[in-house]
This record gives sequence, C-alpha cells and structure tokens, in this order.
Amino acid sequence: MLNIKNLKANVDGKEILKGLNIDVKPGEVHAIMGPNGSGKSTLSNVLAGRDKYEATAGTITFGGKDLLALEPEDRAREGIFLAFQYPVEIPGVSNLEFLKTSLECLHAYQNKPLLSAVEFLKLAREKCKLVDLHTDFLKRGVNEGFSGGEKKRNEIMQMLMLEPKLCLLDETDSGLDIDALKVVADGINTLRSPDRAFILITHYQRLLDYVQPDFVHVLSDGQIVKSGGSELALELEDKGYSWLESGTEQSA
Ligand code: ADP
Ligand code: MG
Ligand code: MG
Repeated sequence: MLNIKNLKANVDGKEILKGLNIDVKPGEVHAIMGPNGSGKSTLSNVLAGRDKYEATAGTITFGGKDLLALEPEDRAREGIFLAFQYPVEIPGVSNLEFLKTSLECLHAYQNKPLLSAVEFLKLAREKCKLVDLHTDFLKRGVNEGFSGGEKKRNEIMQMLMLEPKLCLLDETDSGLDIDALKVVADGINTLRSPDRAFILITHYQRLLDYVQPDFVHVLSDGQIVKSGGSELALELEDKGYSWLESGTEQSA
C-alpha cells in the first residue's frame, strides 16, 4: 500500500530525513516512536505534501502511484488521511461544511453515490457521538476555539467520516486525558480493517495499550534504527530511547 524507500527530506534546506524505509501493507498498524526532533512530524508533513518539506532522494509509492508527484489534495483523494500534531483552526468554515465538501470530493473521485443532506447530517451526528463531541460542534468553525482534547477528537471524527485507506496520526494521543485517549483508540479500532492501514506516530506506549500495533519502528535522527513487534514499545517505555540513538556507543 505505502512503500517508502531511502527517503531523504529537507526542511528549509536542512536535511532531516536521512534515508528512511518503511513498507505498509493493507490491514497493518505501524507505530513510529522516537525522541523529540527525530523527524516524525517531518515524515508526516512530507507525506502530506506540505510546503517547505522537500524530498531530495528516494521514493514514496502509494497504491502503486508515485506519491511525491501528486498534489496534496490528490493524495487525500487517493485515500490518505493525516491527523496533524497541531490541528489547524479554520475560522469561518464550519465543521459541517468542511466535512461535506471533503466527503463530496472523495465520493465523486471514488465514483460513490453522493449522500443526501439528511443522510449526511445523520452520519455526522453518529460520528460525533462516537467521539463524544456534542453535535453543536458541527456548526462551529473547524477547530476554532476547541480545547486540545476537542481538536484531537475532531480529527478522529473526520477520520471516521472520510474512511481513508491510510490513516496517519501524528501524536494524536499527546496531552490527552484517559477518556479522550480511549476515544482516539476506539476510533482507530473501529476503522481497523483488512483493507485499511494505520501509521501511529506516538511518543508514548500508552496509546498502544489500547491499539495493538503489528509493527513498532524507532525513528532516530531521520532514520529507522530499530523495528519490532508490539513488545518493542514496552521495551522503549522501560529503557527510553538513548540506547538506540546513533553515536551512543562512542559517547558512552
Ligand atoms: P519530531 O516530530 O520527531 O519531534 P520534527 O519532524 O518535528 O520531529 O522535527 C525534526 C527536526 O526538524 C527538528 O530539528 C526541527 O527543529 C526541524 N524542523 C521541523 N520543521 C521545521 C521547520 N518548519 N523549519 C525549520 N526546522 C524544522
Ligand atoms: Mg515532537
Ligand atoms: Mg512531531
């Protein structure tokens, strides 16, 4: 589904990703962990096709297509969804308008029948309930004045509405209380299916208590330095990251 080979990427001219490889198949859940500044958000921004994040070497294919050649909106149409570490506020555009436009674009692209206004509203209300957001949130500007936890739950709400093929969540669990964390985990587990994959970027083992990953990767200084199963996350919780960081042998 997603194949990243020897990816190098610059942010503002500085090399942050230094040869990253990852292969994600349908149905799989991959966790990417790693210390602050290791390049986790850079990876999600490169996948999103954000300005300033420039791939300088390597390849990314998604469903057989050259992802780097696609515009950000086409990546979304292909079924990639990203929940950002810091969700943006879009004052003046209501959650409802935002979701309706996004869903209509997706369905048109995928040749799916469009929902009627009534069906759409029913669906949106259902999903609000699942993430424990009052339906009043649908009328508010996207993330406008939302608390940290509400923003993260809203990201999951969008994900549930759009039913992407690949969901990438960048620290969606950070700073959440236990109830919100469970909402995020439930959202992921609800969507988990043999034809959908997840990349969960997370700092902590906590989320992985509720969502069992198939693979755990450690990103350090722009490269995957270790991969394993879910037990690796527990080991990291116990030992931290320093034993894996490049150059540790020399400085020890
Ligand atoms: P992580 O998400 O793993 O904490 P990031 O990908 O956010 O790491 O950051 C990796 C490195 O890239 C850091 O040194 C950070 O300062 C730098 N970086 C990220 N985004 C930018 C930017 N827009 N401008 C300059 N430097 C950036
Ligand atoms: Mg960080
Ligand atoms: Mg980050």
